[in-house]
Amino acid sequence: MSQLSSVEILGGGPAGLYTAILLRRAMPHLRLRVTEQNPKGATFGFGVVFSDQALDFLKADDPETHDLITPAMERWRNMTLNLPGGQAVLDGVGFSAIGRLELIEVLRKRAEALGVEIRFSHLIESLDEVQADLIIGADGLNSLVRRSNQADFAPTIEHFSNHFAWFGTERPFDTLTQTFVKMQRGAFNAHHYRYQPDRSTFIVECDDATFQAYGFAAMDEAESARACESIFADLLDGAPLITNKSTWRQFPRLWCENWVVGRHLLLGDAAHTAHFSIGSGTRLAMEDAIALVRALSSHDDVEQALAAYQAERQPIARKIVDAANTSATWYENFAAKMDLSPVDFGLDYLMRSGRVDTDRLRRMAPGFMARYDAEKGGGNIADPVGHDNAGAAEVGFRREDHPNCSSILWDNLFRNPDKLALIGPAGSLTYAELVTEAARWGNAFIAAGLKRGDRIPFFLDDTPVYPAAFFGAVRAGFVPVLLNTQTTADVLNFFLQDTGAKIALCEAALARRFEGEALHGTTLERVVIVNGAADGEGRIAAADFLAGQPDTLDCADTGPEDMAFWMYSSGSTGRPKGIVHLHHDMAYTQTSFGKHALKLAEDDICFSVPKIFFAYGFGNALTFPFSIGATTLLMPGQPRPDAVLDMIEKYRPTVLFGLPTLYTALARTENVGTRDLSSLRQSMSAAEILSQDIYDAWKSLTGHGPTEGLGSTELLHIYLSNSLSDHRIGSAGARVPGYEIRLETPDGRVPEPGEEGVMFVRGDSSAPSYWNRSDKTKETMRGDWIYTGDRFIEVDGYYYFQGRADELIKVSGQWVWPLEVERCLNEHPDVHECAVMAHQLEDRRMTLRAVIRLREGRAATDVQSDALRAYVKTRLQPYKYPRIVDYVADLPKTGTGKIDRQALAAMPVRQDAAIGL
Ligand SMILES: Cc1cc2nc3c(=O)[nH]c(=O)nc-3n(C[C@H](O)[C@H](O)[C@H](O)COP(=O)(O)OP(=O)(O)OC[C@H]3O[C@@H](n4cnc5c(N)ncnc54)[C@H](O)[C@@H]3O)c2cc1C
Repeated sequence: MSQLSSVEILGGGPAGLYTAILLRRAMPHLRLRVTEQNPKGATFGFGVVFSDQALDFLKADDPETHDLITPAMERWRNMTLNLPGGQAVLDGVGFSAIGRLELIEVLRKRAEALGVEIRFSHLIESLDEVQADLIIGADGLNSLVRRSNQADFAPTIEHFSNHFAWFGTERPFDTLTQTFVKMQRGAFNAHHYRYQPDRSTFIVECDDATFQAYGFAAMDEAESARACESIFADLLDGAPLITNKSTWRQFPRLWCENWVVGRHLLLGDAAHTAHFSIGSGTRLAMEDAIALVRALSSHDDVEQALAAYQAERQPIARKIVDAANTSATWYENFAAKMDLSPVDFGLDYLMRSGRVDTDRLRRMAPGFMARYDAEKGGGNIADPVGHDNAGAAEVGFRREDHPNCSSILWDNLFRNPDKLALIGPAGSLTYAELVTEAARWGNAFIAAGLKRGDRIPFFLDDTPVYPAAFFGAVRAGFVPVLLNTQTTADVLNFFLQDTGAKIALCEAALARRFEGEALHGTTLERVVIVNGAADGEGRIAAADFLAGQPDTLDCADTGPEDMAFWMYSSGSTGRPKGIVHLHHDMAYTQTSFGKHALKLAEDDICFSVPKIFFAYGFGNALTFPFSIGATTLLMPGQPRPDAVLDMIEKYRPTVLFGLPTLYTALARTENVGTRDLSSLRQSMSAAEILSQDIYDAWKSLTGHGPTEGLGSTELLHIYLSNSLSDHRIGSAGARVPGYEIRLETPDGRVPEPGEEGVMFVRGDSSAPSYWNRSDKTKETMRGDWIYTGDRFIEVDGYYYFQGRADELIKVSGQWVWPLEVERCLNEHPDVHECAVMAHQLEDRRMTLRAVIRLREGRAATDVQSDALRAYVKTRLQPYKYPRIVDYVADLPKTGTGKIDRQALAAMPVRQDAAIGL
């Protein structure tokens, strides 16, 4: 017990009064005083809510207070969202409400009954007024205690952009409700709930533009109340809004680095704030009080006690504050979300923290999710592409023949068990050996207690483990999730949460990435470490995981339309999306692209430089060779040009798969002409446009240019391709049999000849949806067509990429497509590689910015820039020249090897880089 004899508490809000009660009980001898500036029985605001969870905490820590306040509470199990398009009822979102004044009165009476001195109507203006062993700042957002020692408490305070005003009304509402309305000058949200039988809280919120448009800044409380009454007239049904210090405010986002400075300490709103939408500010204040008094009771030394209070309490409070901040951020964009259907809006709301997935929601809010599933076509994923689609008929594909994609590997057991399935520096396996390995993996996943459909993140490099674990998992009915190993910790954390995975596979060399932030808040129980030893809790080496597992595996009774595996979009714009693929999708890519464009032979050795975790690499390295019993060469590690050339010489692959960046790098490698590339009979390229330059360079080395195609992860592989016999440079290719292509102009027409349109693709390998992202699913999966967002012109059945649908920019009043300029500059002999992007000037005009890596020996001078501009002017319409020309030693690349345009856009423009602006 701390050796304290006197304590002064500033503030008679929940934090101050509750601290006084707990302190008085724990240390009856203490001289204790609470000072509150307001008179007895007066405070700001109306009702406050406690989430069910918050009440559970209180019950566990202080049943007495819990039992005192709960009888005065209004309670609901559901929340209702009212939208212009209908209602969404969210079950399982339990809340209880109590008048703020009522709560304070309960606490005051209890404190007084315990003999605490409470001084009302007294504003403490300086800390010199109070002398005690300990001074507690429970004095709210504008805390005098904090202000008196700003430097040491180190607060950060910012404000959310929305404005809100806290009113009350005598109209009682049935449930905790949020009503969203769209008015001519902007959108509003009201959070309203009954907190006593005849009284409700009514908080009105809007964004800054709406706030300005309505001129609320110039209105007094009464005028604001009248304006809000008319905005919510239907809801209020004639009931007036009552004011009580109801001025418009922006919610503060306050956090203090230190809560204790000497004998001064902070708790509650003085130390941190939590947005009202998660109903936690009062709870946090009361829990701070519990933590403080617990620390003081369990330490003799006051300093140690105070240090323990801060150390124990801060991390817990931080979590709730973070959740409140995330929630508040969601509200900053509510207007844009109001066009969603009520169920989509409801789902978006429930998932706003980013920490719950639909599986968890099915447990938390079963009623809402049942409605969601019913409206969205069932809880199971349904393939929108019908059995009788034209593409499948064209290539003779029968979906029902492909109930489980593991047959792509397993069929080889009968066809050619002793043939080498894979070769490479990490080892070789015959088909029989690979099937055995896969069976052991599948059995080990079953033995680990996974359930059908459970996701297994793969954080793996290209070694024999990849296909073994992949095919074992899908055969046993589990869902591998192929993760990019260049993922940062925060994104990896998102993947682990989004997948809800219990077990993940991780390359030993990457094991450190599965620590700390990456694991925070996930359900991961075990990480299986492959290709190396495992150390640390929750980790197991693959050898131990597989030990004793049988080497045969029955196929789970999956169907062609069951979920088989996922890949994530690269997330270059926004959060990555989990792209869900079904069991028949792999076979479809083989029946379409594999058979009709790639045309492998059984004695081919495929070498995909892009890794298996990319959809392109996945098809190249696994689907196509295994479908026909050919061999795949797997190369782990960085695909540096020299290493790739070494692999070609050593393993003699016949078909090489790469991207234009790879072919550029290989063709420019020193002494490449002396390397033995004679094994290659065919080379494939995808993802980016191949220039004549690269095509010719590769052809001069191997006798053939790379065959260019275009695909997407949503379609799993390539749907437009050139062919060896008919290659049109600059074109992504012609339609691959099995896929239907449709171009559409912005006004929904079929384009005239030579006119561009946005491409839609239909084929039976398409992903039916993004995991947990109904909004994004709706944007991309349009019925049974995939909206690619790419603009094309079609000439004689060949498609020429014109840019992204959202990329066209207006420069000097004329439309320019940056990629066209980029391609032109790439042809310049001094340019090694470049990116051309839209750039917004300070005065908001748009212009073109080229970022260039020059060839060796060329200097980044003004003369060089002028030459490049002149080059564009002579080849394209003159107004398309880049006004800004910047130089870099190397262009940043994304994990998929594409130019990282976001990183480039973030780079400051070089001084003197611009002319003519
Ligand atoms: C619109 C809105 C809605 C909210 N809704 C909820 C909700 O639903 N659920 C929830 O849990 N939380 C809610 N909160 C948050 C909640 O009100 C606060 O988190 C909580 O009141 C913090 O308690 P406190 O005791 O730390 O501070 P306060 O309640 O602010 O108390 C501080 C007290 O100190 C007094 N004081 C300050 N300076 C001095 C001084 N120099 N001398 C004397 N007295 C002084 C003040 O008068 C005040 O009474 C909401 C907040 C807002 C703004």
